[in-house]
Amino acid sequence: MSRDRALLDRALERGEQDGGSVEFKERLLRDVHLEGGRRESLAAQLRHRLLSGDGEATYVVGVTDDGGLAGIDHDTFSESMDVLSLLAEEADAHIDDVQTWGIRSEAGTASGGLVGVARVRDGSILETDDEHLVVGTAGHVDHGKSTLVGSLVTGTADDGDGATRAYLDVQPHEVERGLSADLSYAVYGFDDDGPVHVRNPDRKADRAKVVEEADRLVSFVDTVGHEPWLRTTIRGLVGQKLDYGLLVVAADDGPTQTTREHLGVLLATELPTIVAITKTDAVSDERVEEVEREVERLLRDVDKSPLRVARHGVDAAVEEINERVVPIVTTSAITMEGLDTLDELFDRLPKTSQDAGEFRMYVDRSYSVTGVGAVASGTVMSGEVEAGDELLLGPMPDGRFQEVEVRSIEMHYHRVDRARAGRIVGIALKGVKESAIERGMVLLPREADPEPVREFEAEVMVLNHPTRIGDGYEPVVHLETIGEAASFSPENGRLLPGDTGETTVRFKFRPYLIEEGQKFVFREGRSKGVGTVTEVHPAD
Ligand code: GDP
Ligand code: MG
Repeated sequence: MSRDRALLDRALERGEQDGGSVEFKERLLRDVHLEGGRRESLAAQLRHRLLSGDGEATYVVGVTDDGGLAGIDHDTFSESMDVLSLLAEEADAHIDDVQTWGIRSEAGTASGGLVGVARVRDGSILETDDEHLVVGTAGHVDHGKSTLVGSLVTGTADDGDGATRAYLDVQPHEVERGLSADLSYAVYGFDDDGPVHVRNPDRKADRAKVVEEADRLVSFVDTVGHEPWLRTTIRGLVGQKLDYGLLVVAADDGPTQTTREHLGVLLATELPTIVAITKTDAVSDERVEEVEREVERLLRDVDKSPLRVARHGVDAAVEEINERVVPIVTTSAITMEGLDTLDELFDRLPKTSQDAGEFRMYVDRSYSVTGVGAVASGTVMSGEVEAGDELLLGPMPDGRFQEVEVRSIEMHYHRVDRARAGRIVGIALKGVKESAIERGMVLLPREADPEPVREFEAEVMVLNHPTRIGDGYEPVVHLETIGEAASFSPENGRLLPGDTGETTVRFKFRPYLIEEGQKFVFREGRSKGVGTVTEVHPAD
């Protein structure tokens, strides 16, 4: 378990006392705890806990009343946090911190569920309007990702033994409303004088200080690191707004098959990406040069233009980086070579997630709130949404779009009047029942003239498949928040691993709103690949 285990132990030790500020809950469910009189009495209980704790209450979730570790699954935990945040809102408070711990099952695997501690504070939170860059990291295991990020955020060299990495290897997940887990594992910032480092990335207080002092924040999100998390991380990748990708390649090993796959996934989502060649201290200059050339070849193979930052300068990298131009930086966490270059890039790179265009949001989840009704949550993809807006929701399974109206918008546990691109929001809707809302549906303006799509043409690349893919291949296609079985009919009857090819893709069960140019990931068993929508056929 993680080093902050002390927090959980303290809460368990203090226990739940009448007149105390600690409350134990096994789980909080929408259908049970927000219905009837429960909502009011639970909100009253929370207010009481807040008063006892001088404006701060601690909720331990996933435990029995007497403090036994029950453990609940990720979805239930996430739902419990949703419910707690709504209760908090009613009690005029907010959740300001959540930590979770995995419980080991008898067999010793970490599948015994989650226990979490949520801190609730009086009053509402201040939205920080600081610029916030979100960087998705990827790369072969042991290629130095954690060490590089650790050295960047702390501003200190690694001792060659992974000292800076140790901070980051066990990560209590911050739980973001409406997502199963916020995957951010490190943050640092910049002010007028340069980087604002965090002394110990594990300490909440140290991180909070950075958030307070810096004018610009940079968060690192693990995108494609761990195979068991692939489903979540793909959603993290395609359903969440990242600004840049950071792919590490160790100078000793050079690019591997995993490097190739991760690069494929990052670029398939058109994420502007930086490649960091790590561990340059461990090899000769000739070897570094060789790996740089290998990386350049890899990029050119997929139609990208490499840009060596040491040769062309940071100005050029900042100006030219896009979905096609990929800066390469050589680094060492031991000598700190290249870290100042990365600092300068992260200080100056523009935010890429755009506000422009008309409002669009792919629905990630839906739930029903007593007194509020149906709520759809997700990340605003483009444009802006305001309370009172008249929208369309769909397509429904029969291809129809439903007229709805925005009753209210909630962001990060708080009600807001409007939300713009990049924000994770819950939108309460008039005109639709919660049971009719499904993940993968879209909210867009009433004036839009959307056509549902059952079948489309795509250019795909098979990243990893034991044999050829033929007619009848049925992977799950992940596009924005859509995750749906589809059947492939390749143009030439088959697709080979490593090849790019054309295929017709047909959703097996229902249409969705998709558009030319959208990127997707597909997966079946251990095989996976990436694709781009080239042409859509209106639903038939
Ligand atoms: P990750 O799996 O990609 O997160 O890799 P880690 O950050 O855990 O690093 C794997 C190993 O490589 C650790 O033993 C690190 O100490 C070592 N390592 C990481 N960066 C460097 C570096 O710049 N130079 C050297 N010599 N070793 C490094
Ligand atoms: Mg690591």
